[in-house]
Amino acid sequence: MDGMARTALIIGAGIGGLSTAQALQRHGWSVTVLERSGALPRSGTMLGMWPAALKALDDIGIGETRRHGEGWADITGATATALWTPAGRALLRRPGGVNLKMVSRPTLLATLSEGVDIAFGTPVSDPGQLENADLVVGADGTFSTTRQRIFGDRFRARPLGAVAWRGTIDGTVREYGETWAPGALFGITPAGPEATNWYASVRAPGTFEGPHLSHLKEHFGSWHNAIGEVLTRIDEDGILHHGLFETPRLPSFVNGNTALVGDAAHAMAPFLGRGACETLVDGAALGHAVTRPTGIDDGLANYDHRRRTQTQRLVRASRQVGKLAMLDTGSRARDAAIGAIGTVMMAKAGSH
Ligand SMILES: Cc1cc2nc3c(=O)[nH]c(=O)nc-3n(C[C@H](O)[C@H](O)[C@H](O)COP(=O)(O)OP(=O)(O)OC[C@H]3O[C@@H](n4cnc5c(N)ncnc54)[C@H](O)[C@@H]3O)c2cc1C
Repeated sequence: MDGMARTALIIGAGIGGLSTAQALQRHGWSVTVLERSGALPRSGTMLGMWPAALKALDDIGIGETRRHGEGWADITGATATALWTPAGRALLRRPGGVNLKMVSRPTLLATLSEGVDIAFGTPVSDPGQLENADLVVGADGTFSTTRQRIFGDRFRARPLGAVAWRGTIDGTVREYGETWAPGALFGITPAGPEATNWYASVRAPGTFEGPHLSHLKEHFGSWHNAIGEVLTRIDEDGILHHGLFETPRLPSFVNGNTALVGDAAHAMAPFLGRGACETLVDGAALGHAVTRPTGIDDGLANYDHRRRTQTQRLVRASRQVGKLAMLDTGSRARDAAIGAIGTVMMAKAGSH
């Protein structure tokens, strides 16, 4: 190095862009993040942090001592989880022992943005014009312009033929878990000592018009009591609704001096609750890889090698769990398969 700080331009101030920024800045890089929105979001649900995500936070300088306070929660203790049929029959039940760190999306973004230079209100329409930087990072989400420019229309985000609703209710519930039926699922997970996350998904060709509580009641109103109870506590204004998409399998996460991170590289169905965690791992891995003494090109190849196969496997697994959950070829096939994936399903409790 000639003593000049290396420069990076990052497109997108989501979890991917900001974690990459933190990782690079730790190693002395000069970083600017270009974000089309005017500010970071102020609302969002709680995210469960898997161990790999906590390790990534450690690596980028957001260690245990900073993971406390408003927006952070520790879920511990006897939190039972179950997998039910719509009639309320438990197909699986795990007695408890949850030990999970959670964080609200706005808190995580605020923490990741500390000390980062973000140019808000700056949509990037042609990432190719950013070539003066040593490194360009496409952290621009599921519908990534950067990915589109590198790989073309064939690699547009693919609709999965399903939609999701999600939100948080005040207070806790007696038991957490998921309910599976042909073409639909409903999940209830902890969101802290005084709040509960819920999420619901149905197979549908496109998104629904609001108001949304009526759709939820229509699809899930006749399901068992635990869901009925959640439905009565949902506030229409807090409901998030969106279609489900995934990123097609990319031949590389890297092109020239440009790298893709997060949903731009591997948007996945939400059924394993891994999207945000894997995005954090990308940021830490990319920051680490390009600061190795072997140079940026070698670092980018290393990043691609370390992250692509692993995340593409999760994209596939998330899609398959969704398919299995909402399978409609008779509940016998589904119920038989449940034993095989029960451990995975239970491990994700609380991680949506
Ligand atoms: C509603 C919703 C709820 C979710 N809940 C969970 C959950 O509970 N648990 C979980 O693990 N995962 C969840 N996910 C998935 C998870 O949020 C994502 O995997 C993760 O946020 C990806 O982060 P990202 O930074 O790659 O993309 P994003 O969060 O999409 O950030 C991309 C950023 O880039 C900006 N941008 C886009 N295009 C441009 C452009 N051309 N120029 C400039 N800026 C641009 C956007 O404004 C945005 O700020 C959820 C996703 C959604 C949509």
